[in-house]
Amino acid sequence: MSVIEKCTSYTRAREAKAAGLYPYFLNFDGRDAGSARMADGREVVMCGSNDYLGLSTDPRVVEAAARAAHRHGAGCTGSRFLNGNLELHDQLERELAQFFGKPAALVLTTGYQANLGAIAGLCGPGDIVFLDKEAHASLIDAARLSRARIQWFAHNDAADLETKLARVAGGADCMVVVDGVYSMEGDLCPLPELVDVCEKYGATLLVDDAHGGGVLDKGRGTASHFALTDRVPLITLTFSKAFGSIGGAVLGDEEVIDFLRHNARSLMFSASASPSNTAAALESLRILQNEPWRCSTVADNADFMRRELTELGYEVGDSRTPIVPVATGDDISTLLAWNLLIEQGVYVNAVLPPAASPRLRTSYTAVQTEEQLARAVEGFRAVRDRILRVPVGA
Ligand code: PMP
Repeated sequence: MSVIEKCTSYTRAREAKAAGLYPYFLNFDGRDAGSARMADGREVVMCGSNDYLGLSTDPRVVEAAARAAHRHGAGCTGSRFLNGNLELHDQLERELAQFFGKPAALVLTTGYQANLGAIAGLCGPGDIVFLDKEAHASLIDAARLSRARIQWFAHNDAADLETKLARVAGGADCMVVVDGVYSMEGDLCPLPELVDVCEKYGATLLVDDAHGGGVLDKGRGTASHFALTDRVPLITLTFSKAFGSIGGAVLGDEEVIDFLRHNARSLMFSASASPSNTAAALESLRILQNEPWRCSTVADNADFMRRELTELGYEVGDSRTPIVPVATGDDISTLLAWNLLIEQGVYVNAVLPPAASPRLRTSYTAVQTEEQLARAVEGFRAVRDRILRVPVGA
């Protein structure tokens, strides 16, 4: 079969569309972090956004983006390495390093590229990358790109990691790669145990804090939440969630960041983050420091929804963050549940393998009103009997 022919035999999306159940690539025509208007005019409560602090539509952030575009143009048209660097990128790096409590920061164009740059920049053939079983796709891709050997360990299982590290102790250089907050389950990594194991075996720990950065511990993220920032050598971030923009960063020691500046291919061979995206991320960083209520409100809103969903009989797993998964069963049940909720005016994300086991991924923000959350609860109540009748854990 040719690489093109394989597209003809790919029928999964076509079948879902034919059944009227396809939940992806929907157009939104205007939104804020609490609600959204779909292209067909329907207003929905937005329970599926990563805009955790509600900053992507904050007028100050939008204004900062517009000002930067007027001053510097729509794009930098080149990599930071050669001709796409702005004082804005450097300023953002300084402020990120200071806020997150690491010596230095490197700003890249997306969080995906930050992970590619950090892992493939530092690891190579002969090294071993230890990956949590539930690690984000970008971390897996980064490990593959590095051409290091990949060794999986059981999700959030520091004892399993230790057994596997012990087998290679004193041999290859090892990097251990985890998410700070798991994007599909909303659970935290067991950072104290991971740090101990990594230090014991001389492995370098990288925590991807895409979902914890800007959210946990007044925005300072997962490492700070555990008071372990000094013992986590590498942290990666994205600006596409709490920071309401696009971009990513690697935080670490000066010499590591300097090495990546000159060796991370995803930085050197890709155009820099646009002026407006960089300025927006910087403005968000400043706002979240001055408005700590955003971090506490998003936590309260998620706590409220976790309680309400559990009371309604839904299974929400081990979530302790703004991400609250709702168990649905198999693929078809997930698509049906998603459509039932849309009919109730509640937008969530339908997640299917290979992204994760089938589920509805719900997530909450600091700017959802009580009334919006109450509408979401009513939506889940209205469809409860139909969603819960489907088998869970198929
Ligand atoms: N890491 C994690 C855990 C993520 O969830 C994501 C985005 N879904 C990324 C990295 C990539 O971030 P970005 O959107 O900035 O490329």
